Amino acid sequence: MNSSLKSGTHYVRFVWTVQLVGLLLFSTATSAAFVGPEDLKISYVVSMDDALNHNFRVTMTLEGVSTDTLVLKMPVWTPGYYWIQNYPKNLSRLEIRDAAGRDCPFLKTSKNIWKVATGGAGSLTASWVVYGNSHSVADAFIDTTHAFIVPAALFLYPEDGLKMPSQVTLDIYPGWTTVSTGLEPVATSAATGKSEAPAGAEKAGTPAVTETAGLPPVTGWTFSASCYDVLFDSPILAGNQEVMTFTVNSVPHHIAVLNPGSYDREALKRDYAKVVESAVSIIGEIPYSHYSFLIMGKGMGGLEHLNSMAVFTGREDGDIYPADRRLFRGWMEFIAHEFFHLYNIKTIRPVALGPFDYDRENYTNMLWVSEGFTVYYENIIMNRAGFMTPDDMLESLSRSITAYESIPGSRVQSATLSSFDTWINFFSRSENSQNTTISYYDKGCGLGLLLDLKIRKSTGNRKSLDDVMRTLYYDYHKKLGRGFTDEEFRTECEKAAGTDLGELFGWASSVVRPDYDRYLDYAGLYLKEEAPSVAGGRARYVIIKKEKMTPEQELIYNDLFRAVN
Ligand SMILES: [Zn+2]
Repeated sequence: MNSSLKSGTHYVRFVWTVQLVGLLLFSTATSAAFVGPEDLKISYVVSMDDALNHNFRVTMTLEGVSTDTLVLKMPVWTPGYYWIQNYPKNLSRLEIRDAAGRDCPFLKTSKNIWKVATGGAGSLTASWVVYGNSHSVADAFIDTTHAFIVPAALFLYPEDGLKMPSQVTLDIYPGWTTVSTGLEPVATSAATGKSEAPAGAEKAGTPAVTETAGLPPVTGWTFSASCYDVLFDSPILAGNQEVMTFTVNSVPHHIAVLNPGSYDREALKRDYAKVVESAVSIIGEIPYSHYSFLIMGKGMGGLEHLNSMAVFTGREDGDIYPADRRLFRGWMEFIAHEFFHLYNIKTIRPVALGPFDYDRENYTNMLWVSEGFTVYYENIIMNRAGFMTPDDMLESLSRSITAYESIPGSRVQSATLSSFDTWINFFSRSENSQNTTISYYDKGCGLGLLLDLKIRKSTGNRKSLDDVMRTLYYDYHKKLGRGFTDEEFRTECEKAAGTDLGELFGWASSVVRPDYDRYLDYAGLYLKEEAPSVAGGRARYVIIKKEKMTPEQELIYNDLFRAVN
């Protein structure tokens, strides 16, 4: 934190004053009827002029405030990153004023909740500072080179207002040229005051001049979100990134990369398009009008979003199109994983994973499906895109099985419990973790393979796990507009297989070792255990193709592990 914030004694005194006034005020205002925030018009301006000190200055304008009190909240976590981040820890200098510029008293009632006495103000302006100096897919960052906005880490929202639309205007740092995000760009016509999307709108276009009725015009980049679930799922990258665009089924896909390399750009776009096409062909429909790959350098991890992904190469000069085949495969598997999440977790999702409660943990038993099957599908997508041979796939799937079968935790924690306890386990690893826990990524991948084989075997390869994914997408996401329960997921798998799957779901919810060989045999495969090469080391598990296969085994094998030219 920079020194100017530490020396904010005036601010400290101010907060005490308003909190005291607030206490008095709220104690006498309990009889005031609380009206929901349905009619509020909400806009934000994010100023990046203090980038040098890693500070975002956020101003929120609420028009149409008619209630005496208004409750503002800030998320404590961001979807996809199952860890309580406590974002308000980076927030300071909160000030709230009415239309006449008078301070509105407010009271903090919880770590992420503020109760504001509005006086029925009509319009309110709240402003605050967010410190962002962490290179993570789940943290805001800003310096003079670029800004990465994780919206949950930046924006307050009105309680009960998650369904409300909002606009975000970015006042980017001098010298920056580009903004990349999955949000919709907005140009507001000064003549009509109506919002309209510019023709051929892309997330990286020309800055628009916007004018909102009754407010002075703002020059900058303005975007809209139809509700807070969209806003909180749309990270923003601002800086001087290179943007490369390709289309799949006429839908634009933008690769925004902070640190461009010296690769063949046309070949890069062709290969990224192949991964997208391969993933899209599994479900058969593209559920967005544009997609953005936000690729940064120094930092960790990747995170899936509604129509974008945020990923780090891990190095300032990290390569997003390695010439080395193995490095290329590893990186593109990562891209395929985050991309396939727009189906498996964003649209094909357990009921607990959307709409979200941003105040607390959102528990589910199903991350072995949402994450583990996404790992399984990395292999399928890469194979069908022509980037992984059957041998590459077998090697990759063997690694997943080894990752959990070779540690003591596999006989202690089930895949469903690993999913449920991700909030306390995943980011809090210790030297004991491998003794008591497993990763739902790894075991989910292994179980995904066994489930796919079982469905193929019991239907004569007429159906596969792809059919389950399509049913969950079309029947639950599109027709019902919701996620599925644990029971519904099993039911849909059993419908596809035409048989009871109690044994396999038992392996998901217990620590019983799956009968790998019986299921692998459906595709003419078996699992070989290789003893540790050094005393105290870990065993290795390798999936091996049998010398001789029956025609049925060949049919399943050749359809699942496709030959690559
Ligand atoms: Zn994932």
